[in-house]
Amino acid sequence: MKRILFIYPPWTRNSAPPVGLSLIQGIIAEHQSRTGVVSRILDLNAIAAHRIPQIVTEDGSHKTHRSILRRNCILKYLTGASGYQSIDHYQTNMQYYKMLLTAYGRQYPIILTPGDFIDKSFNIDNPNDVSCMLDSENHPLLNPLKSDLETRIKDFCPDCIGISIIYKSQLSPALALVKYLKSHYPDIHLSMGGALLSCLPMQSLKTIKETHVSMYPGSAEEFLKEKLNITLDASTSFPAPEYSGIDFHLYFAPFRTLQMITSRGCYWANCSFCDECNETFKSDSSDHVIDTMDILARRYQARHIHFTDHAIPPSTLTKISASNMIASWSGFVRVSPKLADDSYVLSLKQSGCRMLQIGMETPDQSLLDNMNKGIKADLFPAIIKTLRNHDIRSYIYMLFGYPGQSIRSCESTLAFLEQTKPDFVNASIFRWYPNAPLSKLQSHIPGIGNSNTPANDDPGSCGISIPELRRWMSNRLQNSTIIRSIIKNTPHYYKSSHAVYF
Ligand code: SF4
Repeated sequence: MKRILFIYPPWTRNSAPPVGLSLIQGIIAEHQSRTGVVSRILDLNAIAAHRIPQIVTEDGSHKTHRSILRRNCILKYLTGASGYQSIDHYQTNMQYYKMLLTAYGRQYPIILTPGDFIDKSFNIDNPNDVSCMLDSENHPLLNPLKSDLETRIKDFCPDCIGISIIYKSQLSPALALVKYLKSHYPDIHLSMGGALLSCLPMQSLKTIKETHVSMYPGSAEEFLKEKLNITLDASTSFPAPEYSGIDFHLYFAPFRTLQMITSRGCYWANCSFCDECNETFKSDSSDHVIDTMDILARRYQARHIHFTDHAIPPSTLTKISASNMIASWSGFVRVSPKLADDSYVLSLKQSGCRMLQIGMETPDQSLLDNMNKGIKADLFPAIIKTLRNHDIRSYIYMLFGYPGQSIRSCESTLAFLEQTKPDFVNASIFRWYPNAPLSKLQSHIPGIGNSNTPANDDPGSCGISIPELRRWMSNRLQNSTIIRSIIKNTPHYYKSSHAVYF
């Protein structure tokens, strides 16, 4: 095997090149002199983000007509600095973009938005649906991209194609892609990998495998070992990313933004509701992180770096804060007293920090303790204030409906948000993730474990239901003037991927 083409299928947010594939290419490039293997990325998601609005036709709707008239301007704004100068202008353009996608989706019918794709006739957990999708290369998101595929395959002549699937919304186009490649390029070996595969039922994985596709659920290590005889041990640093094949002009961002990862798993790995707790934690040395940031800024002209870690490890954060970066940066961090320390936050700002994403979940300390969050609620107001004082955006994640949470506790979250006014808020409803520590325990706890009764006024009995919680969120949370203003200023559809620019 000498030439590998990695394909990132549609449909997900088009804010930056796929970070996982850039790392795999980095590893392959490091070993090229021994293996002789070269690779390229074909980001079909980025191409689709431009192609689909361009092929929308008039459908008699006034909205579609107005969006078609503006589509070239919309794409220009979304890919350049002028589109991000004011949030109102940005939201208007994103709304027009959404109307074009809605009009395209109506023809099939599928639901297509800037951030998601839903095909109601396809259930990701149903092996029969997976099997049906593997039977047809005709797919609304793949059809407009076939000429791009043909051209790239003709130019690059791969002997292996690797398809990477990270999000649910990429699965059905990826399955149609398998059918298309099998029919038109039977001599090219197909592999499939990515985080989503580890969430699929065994039967679905088996069905895909039966079409002679090599499957690599989870990390790419098995793929590299099996196909290229490259072994990564626990001490191996993340490689410098390699972007061969990427057209940087396609991404929706005001300036070149690249993603970077400094750790796998989570260094805390204890929150009871979180399904990231099972992955073995591994982090890069902080010196290596600084070197990689420098490579992204100098070799690839990144003006902004977004860390995709579940939580940037504290030692890495301190090292970055002491550095003098060319590019700005943003990412997830855990609550810590340091984030309320004026001089520390000043050093983060001086190193280029534009936005921090922080899972605070609730200001109710007893609930935080039940969640095993390991954080102190009394730090929250000072953290938000200190970040604001240094012009670092705060993107705060709050969780509603955790077992044992009362409506009174939800009200305290609302009061906290109204008093502290973070720049952006993500309010989510508790879900039972099968691999989360709480889900494993649920059978031993009386009164919880019913997916319809996440929240509870009285631990041990059935509390408020999801519909009741949704009603509270709609009547109280979303009716708050302050929350409404935060929502208005949060980028629709692209959320935290674009919030950093405002
Ligand atoms: S919620 Fe965040 S901090 Fe907690 S275990 Fe999960 S990734 Fe780590």
